[in-house]
Amino acid sequence: MIELTRVREGLEFLGLNEMAAVLDSRLEAAAQKDKTYLEFLTDLVDSELAVRRERYLKTRTRLAHLPFHKTLEQFDFSFQPSIDDRQIRELSTLRFAYDASNVIFLGPPGVGKTHLAVALGVEAIRQGLGVYFITAHDLVNDLRRAWAENRLERRMRVYLAPRVLIIDEMGYLPMDDAGATIFFQLVSARYERGSIVLTSNKSFGDWGTIFGDAIIATAILDRLLHHSTTVNIRGESYRLREKKRAGLFNPSKTIQEVPPAAN
Ligand code: ADP
Ligand code: MG
Repeated sequence: MIELTRVREGLEFLGLNEMAAVLDSRLEAAAQKDKTYLEFLTDLVDSELAVRRERYLKTRTRLAHLPFHKTLEQFDFSFQPSIDDRQIRELSTLRFAYDASNVIFLGPPGVGKTHLAVALGVEAIRQGLGVYFITAHDLVNDLRRAWAENRLERRMRVYLAPRVLIIDEMGYLPMDDAGATIFFQLVSARYERGSIVLTSNKSFGDWGTIFGDAIIATAILDRLLHHSTTVNIRGESYRLREKKRAGLFNPSKTIQEVPPAAN
């Protein structure tokens, strides 16, 4: 059919490739199921929108540099009773991101801090917000390099642009003076403009030792905490539990896995 080819080519010319691709099958379905013009058109437009949304989410997810893909649905709240799941549900509405307020997950290793931070990131991406994930260590190193090369201001934009900046593992490694100053600059620049979701194994009282300076630690915390929600996780490591379980339920397997001695 000449008209069909013309329509298909027209859609392709307009960049509506998915509509062009499904045109035949949707026309057939419309004829078979006695669909109205409007129903047919809705089907066609929806298929293009679905593909676009998928592509958009993929791109945004890639740009966010998340270390893994975990959602709140995958988080077992019963394992971590110190977490108020209502508070996490409230956070998952992303109101904090629209208010440029911060979220801080504190707790020992393995309790799910990164998981929860990533899950909020995934939710933010779904809602169309820009997200960027980086460890505190990499962040400071990257900005220090930019500073040494006289391009700090430009590089800083990478960390100011996203609506949600996830800074993971604050305090695992101490920062020197230059690092602390740069970190302070970043927190000040995002203050009341964009959200920071931060994870740390150090309670706020110990932040002086992260920065090696109580005054700068106070200045950073002052801005970080002014509009913020802190989630304090006290509990067992999920990683360790999985290890323990493996040992408990299948102890013989571990023994069998040890290779026999060579001689
Ligand atoms: P942290 O950042 O606090 O050290 P992670 O968030 O990296 O810990 O969690 C370690 C691993 O255990 C991850 O694979 C994470 O998905 C998983 N995990 C932790 N807590 C839970 C939980 N309550 N339910 C499901 N998975 C969890
Ligand atoms: Mg972590």
